[in-house]
Amino acid sequence: MTNRFIDIAAPGMAGLRPYVPGKPISELERELGISGSIKLASNENPLGPSPAAIAAATAELAALARYPDGGGFDLRGALAERHGVDMSRVTLGNGSNDVLDMIARAFLHPCVESVLSEHAFAVYPISTQAVGATARVARAREFGHDLDAMSALINEHTRVVWIANPNNPTGTWLGHDVLKGFVASLPAHVICVVDEAYVEYVDEPDYPDASRWLDDLPNLIVTRTFSKAYGLAALRVGYGLSHPDVADLLNRVRQPFNVNSVALAAARAALDDQDHVRRAVELNRQGMARLCEGVKALGLSYIPSVGNFLAIDVARPAGPVDQALLREGVITRPVGNYGLPNHLRVTVGLPEENARFLAALEKVLDR
Ligand code: PMP
Repeated sequence: MTNRFIDIAAPGMAGLRPYVPGKPISELERELGISGSIKLASNENPLGPSPAAIAAATAELAALARYPDGGGFDLRGALAERHGVDMSRVTLGNGSNDVLDMIARAFLHPCVESVLSEHAFAVYPISTQAVGATARVARAREFGHDLDAMSALINEHTRVVWIANPNNPTGTWLGHDVLKGFVASLPAHVICVVDEAYVEYVDEPDYPDASRWLDDLPNLIVTRTFSKAYGLAALRVGYGLSHPDVADLLNRVRQPFNVNSVALAAARAALDDQDHVRRAVELNRQGMARLCEGVKALGLSYIPSVGNFLAIDVARPAGPVDQALLREGVITRPVGNYGLPNHLRVTVGLPEENARFLAALEKVLDR
């Protein structure tokens, strides 16, 4: 279907397709007239937020008539302290997605390029194309980022390299030396984004916390989020850590008051409740093991994942499997739009949700 305004739209619009989110439970139940469904489609935290975050958010409601603190002073200060960096390195976003978008607007334009990997998080090409820049896509290796292939695409037009560590939807990750060596090897005109949305879940000795490299690597931006292990996806809070001069540029394109006051308060409280994060991570560890076992028992393979989701090879087009699961009241995510037509991405849920997913998968594959 053509759009009657496409000719006057900004360059890049013609090649853009909207980001496809996981189906909300309310939409599925409205469509099918069912109830009691479960959603394992958006890598959310099945435990929910910390009770302290809920209390802080609730307390903030009385002040809704006021604009939030546009500089996010308290939260930025707490994050700076947590990461052992100066506050001038912290940029808050309306979700880390907002930070990714700010990076694109600050560094990309129609004459330049960004580099990303096949199967990488979908927002990187969207943010690139939205500002009219060109996304160059490197072939993946064993579903993960191939840094040599990405290096080969870097030229004088490159301004941004996007790396998800770990990556969504594959759950693949890069180790300390390869990733640090790669960022260090980049020319001065290239910014490297290391997106650590799922950092809290990773339990691998060689997995790097790239925020520790900020002093040595001025071209590095690390992004983090409160949407996953902190359980605050609905409030939309994320942040970037970078050189202060990069943060200054991001600030120039940042919308005033981009993070709302309820979100600021909840995130601040959530940060202080690391026990809650640990509980979420432990629940994920057990759930991931159960899902992997169950998937193997069904004779299927999967991409080993260090995140809170698992991409399962259902050995047939995943779209119809997803549709059949929806009729069982189980929402997952087929990832054909990521170049993985036979994979279904499922988020690790509560034990009963994982069991229900496995039973439903067995049932729909049997048909
Ligand atoms: N990066 C990755 C790799 C993600 O999977 C997501 C969420 N799906 C995001 C960033 C953005 O999350 P948010 O905007 O909620 O912080």
